Amino acid sequence: MTDTSSKKMRMPGAERTVSVMFVCGGCKAVYEASQVSRPATKYFRCEQRDGIVHRWSGNYDYVQWKSFPKNWGER
Ligand SMILES: [Zn+2]
Repeated sequence: MTDTSSKKMRMPGAERTVSVMFVCGGCKAVYEASQVSRPATKYFRCEQRDGIVHRWSGNYDYVQWKSFPKNWGER
């Protein structure tokens, strides 16, 4: 008898990160963040200090915030 069962490796550390876009309600600055699956309760404040871009609480965290150029998406 030969055991031919193939081992299916399901890499535990390979979590998919999702990029999410947020727009500041104050100055319309566009930010991109990476959504990762870990519990967090935080908020991200706009670089212009005119408000909080996003507030989150739950099973996801948002990291690696990047601001887009001001003219992003404009013509
Ligand atoms: Zn702003």
